[in-house]
Amino acid sequence: MAKVAINLSTGSIQQEEVIVGIDLGTTNSLVAYIHPEDKKPIAINDQGRGTIVPSVVHFTQTGETIVGTEAKDYLTTDPAKTIYSVKRLLGKSYKDVGEHKDYFGYKIIDDDSEGLVKIRVGDKFYSPIELSAEILKELRERAEHSLKTPVNRAVITVPAYFNDSQRQATRDAGKLAGLEVLRIVNEPTAAALAYGIGIDQNEEKTVAVYDLGGGTFDISILSIHQGIFEVLSTNGNTYLGGDDFDRAIINHWIQENQLIADTVNEDKNLQQELRLRAEEAKKTLSSQPAYTGTINGTIDCHIERHTFETLIAPTVARTIESCRMAMADAKLQPEQIDAVIMVGGSTRVPMVYEAVSEFFGKPANNTLNPDEVVSLGAAIQADILAGNRKDILLLDVTPLTLGIETMGGLMDSIIPRNSKIPTKAGRQYTTSIDGQVNMKISVYQGERDLVQENRKLAEFDLKGIPAMPAGFPKVDVNFILNADGILKVEAIELRSGVRQEVEVKPQYGLTDEQVEQMLMDSITHARDDVNTRMVIEARTTAEQMLYQVERFVEKNGQHLTAEEIELTRTNLQNLKDALPSGDKNTILKAVDILEEQTSPFAERVMQISIKQAMAGKKIE
Ligand code: AMP
Repeated sequence: MAKVAINLSTGSIQQEEVIVGIDLGTTNSLVAYIHPEDKKPIAINDQGRGTIVPSVVHFTQTGETIVGTEAKDYLTTDPAKTIYSVKRLLGKSYKDVGEHKDYFGYKIIDDDSEGLVKIRVGDKFYSPIELSAEILKELRERAEHSLKTPVNRAVITVPAYFNDSQRQATRDAGKLAGLEVLRIVNEPTAAALAYGIGIDQNEEKTVAVYDLGGGTFDISILSIHQGIFEVLSTNGNTYLGGDDFDRAIINHWIQENQLIADTVNEDKNLQQELRLRAEEAKKTLSSQPAYTGTINGTIDCHIERHTFETLIAPTVARTIESCRMAMADAKLQPEQIDAVIMVGGSTRVPMVYEAVSEFFGKPANNTLNPDEVVSLGAAIQADILAGNRKDILLLDVTPLTLGIETMGGLMDSIIPRNSKIPTKAGRQYTTSIDGQVNMKISVYQGERDLVQENRKLAEFDLKGIPAMPAGFPKVDVNFILNADGILKVEAIELRSGVRQEVEVKPQYGLTDEQVEQMLMDSITHARDDVNTRMVIEARTTAEQMLYQVERFVEKNGQHLTAEEIELTRTNLQNLKDALPSGDKNTILKAVDILEEQTSPFAERVMQISIKQAMAGKKIE
């Protein structure tokens, strides 16, 4: 239970605020906190439903959302409205996910652009941020229910390899779930903290964190000194995990049993049943030498641990190969690793544990629950940020987010608030109009999504960009914040080397009260802000689409039929009409219709030009 205090002036009962740690995972998510009495981290188990919340969101007929185990049940019965693995899409553009599109059982909009992906569920469009927010909301509610206190602040973990855009998307998801995200922490850092590594400021350690979950594998090598966690290298495979072990067992049973082999392709129920039994067998084999069960109550299935180990040996070997590469990148030998930490449910497989311990030449740490360890570390980090651990020095941090203005007047954060200083961060931008030679860089400070609500620090023009088609120039914008809090902003166009910079002091003239007020405002307006951002993003996607399609029809109209041109005109007009609605679903639906209708055109024109080129190459 959280501590209770009585407000003497009002007589009302106030509860001390709890800051939670959240592991927002691809397959499963957890929320943890520090117990106020024994000061130990514990994962929250609300109403005996277990600590693990499957990261699955289901939309019911009436448009409500269900998250967790209950939602998972709809994966087979209503896949189009049941969203899993949304973390794989966070902060990604359609181009990023393109080749893995078939992995998902739901519809991802294909606008073939740099824009962030959207997921279509019935008539509505959701960004991965909104879907992740649903999972975070569920975790928040479970924490509030179980701790009987409001939960408004959190630390959320992300993989060490997450880029700026994926980290920002995670922050936005937190914001949308009504949480103030105090810090985004790397998952391996949290795992190390959970084992107490790095808490003592004088400790210097090199740690390997081996994380094998249901569908992803990560190895991270960390160097910890003076309370700073530095990621030396990462490696892994975003499509490898415990699910592969389950599949290996299923294939084995198909080979062994003719009855299964004959019916498995048509029988959906059998496929699902096989998946469940295979996972059960795998888990049993982590503690028993053999498994025996029945499928659909009729077909016997059996597997022994040594058979299972033969089946999974190549997969385990691939993870060890990744460890070898990560070590080579960090320029380290196994004997230089002080501790190896096991994370993820699949590290319970004894063969995995042994292979990892053997590779690093020392027994890996697995005393904490591998499903919970990241959330426990996140809770410890939250406790440190709450100032409850006076023994731990907090490094100087920047109190407000620093960023620049992008399309539609949106704030694109470059250095998030609470980042340790000194720090350096950057992002790449490009032009939106053909032949654009100047780019305005406006620097802002604050937490709101629209720059007009934030504080403007500086503005300058990067001039002399050589004229190129839209999207071609590569402009790096770097923010360098030194230990004295002075911010240097530089913009460089990489193709031409044109460069411009400016220096500002973000904290100049700002009182603590003003900083506090800015933070308060961002919390009160969080939901509205994120919604406005989404409408602006939808409008930007729509405007780019209009620009591209109109240009395409102008240039290639001769390859289209009169009906096609007519239909394109109608769809263009419908999209233009949808723009002022201010409703992102209306806009995105019109984008989707135009996209679906016109996407075959580009392919056709390409075929024609290839044919023409071939025809031109006559042999004399
Ligand atoms: P995570 O993504 O970290 O939650 O890991 C979930 C994966 O761990 C799933 O593939 C589970 O089947 C697997 N898992 C959970 N418990 C066990 C166990 N006792 N033995 C083997 N694998 C397990």
